[in-house]
Amino acid sequence: MKQQITILGSTGSIGVNTLDVVARHRQRFDVFALSAATRVDLLLEQCLRFEPVHAVMTQAAAAAELADRLKQAGSRTRVLAGADALERIAQDERVQVVMAAIVGAAGLPACLAAARAGKRLLLANKEALVVGGEVFLQAVRQGGARLLPIDSEHSAIFQSLPEDPASWPERVEKIILTASGGPFLERDPASFHQVTPEQACKHPNWVMGRKISVDSATMMNKALEVIEARYLFGMRPDQIEVVIHPQSIIHSLVQYRDTSVVAQLGTPDMRVPIAYGLSWPERVESGARPLDFKALPTMTFLAPDARRFPGLALAWEVLAGPAGSTAVLNAANEVAVQAFLDGAIGFDQIHQVNRGTLDGWSAPVVTALEDLLAIDQQARVRAADWVRRLGAR
Ligand code: NAD
Ligand code: MG
Repeated sequence: MKQQITILGSTGSIGVNTLDVVARHRQRFDVFALSAATRVDLLLEQCLRFEPVHAVMTQAAAAAELADRLKQAGSRTRVLAGADALERIAQDERVQVVMAAIVGAAGLPACLAAARAGKRLLLANKEALVVGGEVFLQAVRQGGARLLPIDSEHSAIFQSLPEDPASWPERVEKIILTASGGPFLERDPASFHQVTPEQACKHPNWVMGRKISVDSATMMNKALEVIEARYLFGMRPDQIEVVIHPQSIIHSLVQYRDTSVVAQLGTPDMRVPIAYGLSWPERVESGARPLDFKALPTMTFLAPDARRFPGLALAWEVLAGPAGSTAVLNAANEVAVQAFLDGAIGFDQIHQVNRGTLDGWSAPVVTALEDLLAIDQQARVRAADWVRRLGAR
C-alpha cells in the first residue's frame, strides 16, 4: 500500500528536497498535505503537481489567496488556515509519515501531534526537539511513533550505530559530530561586527534556509545539533564531540569501546538523509551524485576555536542545566538571528544576546508542552530586550 505523507514546511529548502525524493517514488508515496507560512506561488505550484488533500498556510491572507487560485485552476485541494491546522494535518489518521521541516520552535506543536498519533516522524526541525526535550521524547514513546533523524549528522550517526538501541550504552564510547565550520572559518574574528546577512548566509557546502545558514556561521547550528544528538541517541553530553571537517564528506562518526570508528560518507546533498528517513530500513534512490573517491579533495579535521565560535560551548552548559534551559537558548538564538537578519544587531552580538538571556534565568518546573511554550515566550521577551540594549549602542 502507498504511504501517505504530510510535509510541514514544504516550501523551504528541506521541503523542496523532500518533494524531489517523493517525486522519484510516486509508486510508494502519496502527498496527503503540504504547508507553508507565506510563499503562495510555490505552494500553489506544489499543490497542482502533487494534488494533496490539504494545503495549510499559517497566515490567513495567504491562505485565502491560495484557496482562490487553486479553485481557479480547478484543483480539489482544500486549504486550511492557521497554526492549529498544522496539528490537524500532522495527526490525521490517513497519514503514516510526517516530515517536520518547519524552522524554529513554531514547529513543535505539530511535531508533538505527529508523535502522539504514532507517525513515522522525520525530524529536520531540530529546534522542536531542542525545545521539547524529554516532553517530546515522552510523546514519541506514548504515541508509539518512530522518530527518525533528517539532519545529515544525525542520519549519519543513526546509520553508523548498531540496529538495537539497547546495545548502545555497552558498545558505544562516543559520537563525533562533524561541522563544516561555515563561511567564517578563516575570517578574522575582529571583523565579525562587519559581517552582513548576505555573507553569513553564503554557506560553502550547503544551500539552506537563512536561519540555519546564520546558525552555521556562528556554529550555533552545531550547538543545537549536540542537544539534538543527546535526545535522539540518549548519550551523555560528555560522550558527544564536535570536530570541524570543512569538506563535509564525512557526515559524522561513532567511536566504539574498542576504538573502532564507523562513519557515513557522501556528497553533501540533503536528499540522502531524506531518502533514508523515507525508506528506512530499506534504501531507495535519492537523486544524489555518488562520491568519486579518485577525485576527492584532501579531507582535513580541526578542533573548533572557542574564541571564534563562543556559542558552541553553550550546548553543554544548557544540557547540564535544569529542564527548559535548552528552550531558553533556542528562543534567544531565534530572536538574535532574526535581529541580525533585520539589521538590528551585529553578527558578533548574536552570542551576546544568547549569553545575556541565559544569565540570570531561573528555572520553573517543566512537565508539559505548555510549560515549555511559556519558557519559550519569556525567553523571547528577555532576548528582545537584549537586542534593544545592544542595538542602541
Ligand atoms: P527554510 O527557511 O528554507 O524553510 C522553512 C519552512 O517552514 C518554509 O516552508 C516556511 O514556509 C515554513 N515556516 C517558517 N516559519 C513558519 C512558522 N512560523 N509557521 C509555520 N511554518 C513556517 O528552512 P530549511 O533550511 O528548510 O530548514 C528547515 C528545518 O530543517 C530547520 O529546523 C533546519 O535547522 C533543519 N535543517 C535544514 C537543513 C537544510 O539543508 N536546509 C539541514 C538540516 C536541518
Ligand atoms: Mg546538520
